[in-house]
Amino acid sequence: MATLELKNLHVALEDGTPIVNGVDLTVSSGEVHAIMGPNGSGKSTLAYAIAGHPAYQVTGGQIVLDGVDITEAGADERAQGGLFLAFQYPHAIPGVTVTNFLRQALNAVRKARNGGVDDPMPVPEFRKLFLAKMDDLKVSRELASRYLNDGFSGGEKKRVEILQMAMLRPRIAVLDETDSGLDIDALKVVAEGVQQLVGPEMGALVITHYNRILKYIKPDFVHVFVDGKIVEQGGAELAEKLEVSGYEEWEKEGVTA
Ligand code: ADP
Ligand code: MG
Repeated sequence: MATLELKNLHVALEDGTPIVNGVDLTVSSGEVHAIMGPNGSGKSTLAYAIAGHPAYQVTGGQIVLDGVDITEAGADERAQGGLFLAFQYPHAIPGVTVTNFLRQALNAVRKARNGGVDDPMPVPEFRKLFLAKMDDLKVSRELASRYLNDGFSGGEKKRVEILQMAMLRPRIAVLDETDSGLDIDALKVVAEGVQQLVGPEMGALVITHYNRILKYIKPDFVHVFVDGKIVEQGGAELAEKLEVSGYEEWEKEGVTA
């Protein structure tokens, strides 16, 4: 059982601008939570803060993973603790192939789980697992030998992220969805990948602007996020309501408040 707790979390940019203004949220294994909010509401900032990106400062509150306060932990430590973030805009790493990247990431996590002692997965075992996961997630084998995200289409980047998630087996996955540009096939791959992994060992936080992806991943909880705060919570039906009415109701409140 894994649990990620955000306790009254406040996050500011490097220049001190407050973006996330007090978020309380608990994500446990077996659960899919969706955070839905308009552009600029601070969704990616929240995701980066959870992942430990140094450009985002936690100015109040706590991030707790399985009872351990990781608010000040480095990004690598969090990843080793079982947190995984799929970025909205994944970076290209020219010179590092998808295969090598995944092998290194996997072995780093294995080392951490093995008390800091190297425990690399034997190459034949890695190959077998890698090929099986690629086939599962319909990632073209041709991508394996290409440089990570270098010239990849939006859909290819997402597939490779889900592949990474399937290989690393995180305990809590945070997916910061791109709001547009994913075709239905890529959306389905992301959704099926998440669906396959959510269970006793993994929970997911799916961040999105549109509810398109939520047609394929059924969230257990939906949190409406406006101006850096959760302004309403509900079940999957809330995502459908948002599709019709948008975020205006809360944005107006924000203006008059
Ligand atoms: P969302 O993901 O909901 O669209 P973001 O978290 O990306 O929102 O952005 C929230 C606000 O913070 C925006 O006004 C954005 O311009 C600003 N912001 C986020 N990251 C940075 C950054 N690294 N430098 C400057 N401004 C940023
Ligand atoms: Mg964003």
